[in-house]
Amino acid sequence: MRVFLTVPPALKSHMQIPDLGLAYMATALRKQNHTVTILQAEKHGNHDDFTRALQEFRPDVLGIKTFSLEIASIRTCTEIARTLFPDIVIVLGGPHMSVIPSEESMAFFKEADFGVRGEGEIAFPRLLEVIESGSGRFEGVPGLIRRTENGIETQPSYFHRQLDDFDFPAWDLIDPRNYKDRWYFWSPEFPGAPILTSRGCPYRCTFCAQNVVNGKIIRRRSIERVLEEMELLMTRYGVVHFDFIDDNFLMDPQYVRSLCEAILARGWNVRWNCCGARLDYLDKDLVRLMDRAGCNVISVGFESGSQRVLDYMRKGIDKEGIRQKVRMITSNTSIRIMGLFILGFPTETEAETRETIRFILDLPLFLVSINTYIVMPGCEEYDRLIASGEVKPMDGSNIGLDEHVYAPRGMSLKRLGYLYNLAFFRFFLRPLTLYRILRYSWRRIPHFIDKALRKLIWQSAG
Ligand code: SF4
Repeated sequence: MRVFLTVPPALKSHMQIPDLGLAYMATALRKQNHTVTILQAEKHGNHDDFTRALQEFRPDVLGIKTFSLEIASIRTCTEIARTLFPDIVIVLGGPHMSVIPSEESMAFFKEADFGVRGEGEIAFPRLLEVIESGSGRFEGVPGLIRRTENGIETQPSYFHRQLDDFDFPAWDLIDPRNYKDRWYFWSPEFPGAPILTSRGCPYRCTFCAQNVVNGKIIRRRSIERVLEEMELLMTRYGVVHFDFIDDNFLMDPQYVRSLCEAILARGWNVRWNCCGARLDYLDKDLVRLMDRAGCNVISVGFESGSQRVLDYMRKGIDKEGIRQKVRMITSNTSIRIMGLFILGFPTETEAETRETIRFILDLPLFLVSINTYIVMPGCEEYDRLIASGEVKPMDGSNIGLDEHVYAPRGMSLKRLGYLYNLAFFRFFLRPLTLYRILRYSWRRIPHFIDKALRKLIWQSAG
């Protein structure tokens, strides 16, 4: 069958990196002799390119990766596909399908034939096998959502234990050399590529749905397979920089140690970052080893500078302990730390937001990503907000960008926007920050200014 995989056009996205999820799916489908193409349309402001690409490829099956922020766009994609090709099979996967009750999502996406919860590498090819054979044996498709005479039927999410069973993502469909945008600010070397060593996270941060989307148990690829993939990317695509985008890359210090030692043993001159990491398990020896093996930047989810808020969001970190870890890393290595922060978390007071701003300025951070809290279904915080009546349930009829914007009780959106701008400008307009950034990635300055402006526009729109 001819399968068209896509990330839908997005309203606000201005960055695009190779989508590993779609490329893993493409590999799994190709193994069953399907013909696959990928269109990442997240930077497209409308559906014209999507429509054109669909008409050219003439698919039998459309697979869409779904995000809660983009459901209006996704629905438009399904309607376009159904109009152009009335018999097309439309399958929805991705985070939104995993976190929203199936009845709601299938009621909203009226043109969708199937959904998949959890990982799709096993489910999607098996679903196409059942469709092609006409056997009707859908019960053998893990995580499948389908319409039946009795309503919506849903199989439990499935997470495959042995990640090495999945072959490498279809890199030819997401060639890193075509993603100039991936050459973003904290990762200035080009071409670069994202790579996964594991999936899943055992933590229970109340604002995060990753353990619903990727499972609560960390599953790891073997170091040999990760190295093989890195080598392929270096030799075939000229990749010089990697981003380890695991949910929790630094969770297993022994694994990280072995990976670094293997990189050094091969004499590779590569640079790499790791994203959204936790520092709990790092010690001086390990960070020095990571430094020697090419680690450039660790981006860390600090989230808040208020210990009360950290405890409330069940982040499981001790603010002072983290401060020491950051200093241990920056004083013993050349690794830079980027901090991820949330302002305006539920129950947060203005005094606590200001405490976070002081924390941001006090840590020796090279970069920060500051965001205001966004209401997202699928996590514990969302359930709490619904139960307390602070926000309305998002049931498909009302879910949309405006419903995701949030300020905690006692703080107006305008005030939160002011605090956001305060944090942003106080961090980025410091001579020390500008010096650190210029030294590391002077080539990315125009991109950074563009990004900063867009972000400010986004905030004022909120
Ligand atoms: S925020 Fe990070 S550590 Fe917390 S649950 Fe999500 S992935 Fe895990």
